[in-house]
Amino acid sequence: MDFRFTPEEEAFRKEVREFLDKELPKDWPGVDPDCYHEDAFDEIHEVSVAMQKKLAAKGWLGLTWPKKYGGHEQPLWKQIILEEEMTYRGSPGLDPYQFVGGMGDLLLEFGTEAQKEKYLPMMIRGEIKGATGMSEPNAGSDLANIQLKADLQGDYFILNGQKTWQSAAHRADLAPVYVRTDPNLAKHRGISIILVEYQKTPGITMRRLEMMSGLGAFNEVFYDNVKIPKENLLGEINSGWKIVMAALSHERSYGVMLLINIRRDIDLLIEYCKETKDVDGEPLSKNRLIRNRLAEVVIQQEIARNVGYKLNHLALTGGNVVSTANHVKILGGITTQRVAQVGMQIMGLYSQLGPVGGNWRQTDPVKDKWARLGGRMKHLYLSTICNTIAAGTTEVARNAAAGALGLPREPKPAPKK
Ligand SMILES: Cc1cc2nc3c(=O)[nH]c(=O)nc-3n(C[C@H](O)[C@H](O)[C@H](O)COP(=O)(O)OP(=O)(O)OC[C@H]3O[C@@H](n4cnc5c(N)ncnc54)[C@H](O)[C@@H]3O)c2cc1C
Repeated sequence: MDFRFTPEEEAFRKEVREFLDKELPKDWPGVDPDCYHEDAFDEIHEVSVAMQKKLAAKGWLGLTWPKKYGGHEQPLWKQIILEEEMTYRGSPGLDPYQFVGGMGDLLLEFGTEAQKEKYLPMMIRGEIKGATGMSEPNAGSDLANIQLKADLQGDYFILNGQKTWQSAAHRADLAPVYVRTDPNLAKHRGISIILVEYQKTPGITMRRLEMMSGLGAFNEVFYDNVKIPKENLLGEINSGWKIVMAALSHERSYGVMLLINIRRDIDLLIEYCKETKDVDGEPLSKNRLIRNRLAEVVIQQEIARNVGYKLNHLALTGGNVVSTANHVKILGGITTQRVAQVGMQIMGLYSQLGPVGGNWRQTDPVKDKWARLGGRMKHLYLSTICNTIAAGTTEVARNAAAGALGLPREPKPAPKK
């Protein structure tokens, strides 16, 4: 086992860093782990679209995908290095809903030839944005309870119902939407996946929901007699559950991105402690408690990151990723929350100051005068709460991890008399 990257891989990392230095706006803050919720800000959306085009021009979108769809058939490690560098810098442009275990991989695995030929080249050229349409008001952890109805009538599916928590759906062009095609079959059967072109399809309305961090990226999506051609069915009808499982496993590996992104916050926090003096005029970094806390979060992040590498190694060698993806998802959530807590403790009351939304461009020089690191820790504290919920909650993921150890399920509580 060799933990080092090869000289060729290191050279690629350098190239990505130089590209980001050149192409990202100066002092880019990049506060959101996947830079996707921040896409809700018009200004960040513009940067995101521009970066997507620049990545496409470099040949860095669809890096590992087959050449026949416009991909570049490069080794997975290159994709991982690209993700790491972009995520560390908080750079938008590498839309996770298409490229980081998102729609693209589902299309490659389950799509028809016509679907691949239509959509993959658009993604690779950086022309579209993606989303994912799973959750409903009564189908989150219990995803098999999906109720959004899709009736096959002639050549079209007719969709009626509602989705919720759809990240940046208002920006998206295309999403796999999880629907019920047969209400008479058992819950896990009767589910299908349909590719929906949000912007071009009449009958879809969206309502934005603001998160506690101030980002307005969530959407409720309503379907009112929405007509979708039957060619947009992904996989076979009523066999969507296996795609659900594949999608969740891909999505959980997103924990790796959280873990890379949080390293930047740790590094900024370390710099802050070196530069900031306490009441006795000594740098905070000399304080034993603070030093221990910083060391603790670095160790936690390093351990979690290495489990992320194990996940990538399994993916590369054709191993079973399900269990490790689940571990990474759990580690990503709790590690990022811990860093935010430590940051808040170190900065004390100052940590509560700063603009909402974590968008440094909104910083008011008078009002936010005393905010530290532009209010970054406050934003992190509020925005990481959802990291133990997104892509399936930590409680449910822990249940699955226990199941993988062969532990029996908890008995259901007896019904109340
Ligand atoms: C930042 C973020 C982005 C998201 N983006 C999207 C998106 O783009 N598209 C999309 O479709 N969805 C998205 N979601 C929704 C997400 O997938 C759901 O929130 C998640 O699956 C949990 O479902 P729920 O919110 O309905 O909670 P519930 O399932 O109602 O759970 C409520 C509580 O009960 C606990 N619980 C439930 N069942 C069990 C059990 N069996 N054992 C133990 N505890 C249990 C849960 O852990 C949780 O604490 C996003 C969520 C977040 C936070």
